[in-house]
Amino acid sequence: MSGQILTGKEVATKIKQEVKIELEKIKEKGINPKLVAIQVGENSSSQVYLNAQKKNCQTMGILHEVKNLEPDISESELINFIEEMNKDKSVTGIILQLPLPQGMDVRKIQSRISPEKDVEGVNPANLGWIVYGRPLLAPCTALAVKELIYSTGVDLYGKEVVMVGHSDIVGKPVALLLVDKFATVCICHIGTSDKGMLEQHVKRAEILIVAVGKAHLIKGEWIKEGSIVIDVGINKLNDKIVGDVEFETAKEHAGWITPVPGGVGPITTAVLLRNTIIAAKLTSCL
Ligand code: NAP
Repeated sequence: MSGQILTGKEVATKIKQEVKIELEKIKEKGINPKLVAIQVGENSSSQVYLNAQKKNCQTMGILHEVKNLEPDISESELINFIEEMNKDKSVTGIILQLPLPQGMDVRKIQSRISPEKDVEGVNPANLGWIVYGRPLLAPCTALAVKELIYSTGVDLYGKEVVMVGHSDIVGKPVALLLVDKFATVCICHIGTSDKGMLEQHVKRAEILIVAVGKAHLIKGEWIKEGSIVIDVGINKLNDKIVGDVEFETAKEHAGWITPVPGGVGPITTAVLLRNTIIAAKLTSCL
């Protein structure tokens, strides 16, 4: 058996079409969304993300501006700058580019982004709405994972879901989003691996999501026959970009599997555009 390859393309195109329609509607009402990305110092991986944001916004007709701040800026100066962007009525969405200089309290700074302008869903208020089962501006990658699973048409009710990785912006929100659809969700992390239990959990996953950042952590033979495998990981291995799952062997067992690159990534960017529209509506009280 060889699984269907879940490329994000189709889902991403559908989301972008919906965004285009919504954008036209809000522009008619006089709202012109503007996304501001705050970049402290320089970072090559962050630059790739910035370029992708800019290109996608331009294609869609959304204003995008990068605010470059000096690498030696203090934490309180950065917070003051974010407050300025919060107050600026022409700014409807804010992205704080990571990584920040060493020593800065990332969570504290993210918590100062106005929840209504928080297009990446990193403010604790937005994460809290997920706990309430009423996601508003949720983290883009977590939403992208949900969209990909939905695109298979598989009913989540009672399904055995294994989420490997428990980060605040991927693992934990994904788990909560799926629990709300009455899936049975197990979250694995470093403790699971250290106890030698990862294989056992993965083997019974009807839906497996992996967001760790370790090339080929998940062996292809562990994949349950006919399962859905969503690989969020992005790793460099021998000059190639690979995921956290051994793709070639895994696809022989999975029913559906995402490639890396070209699976979760394109949907994440489309969801960012959708969140930008939601934020523009929220800041304009539509
Ligand atoms: P993160 O914050 O570093 O979290 C990684 C998670 O993996 C942590 O919960 C960590 O647990 C766990 N972990 C580490 N080693 C493990 C092991 N051996 N076994 C099981 N769990 C282990 O990373 P993230 O932000 O969630 O991102 C994860 C990956 O997804 C990265 O490769 C990133 O580049 C990629 N990513 C892709 C997209 C996209 O759009 N495609 C978006 C975001 C992220 P502990 O904290 O307990 O160590």
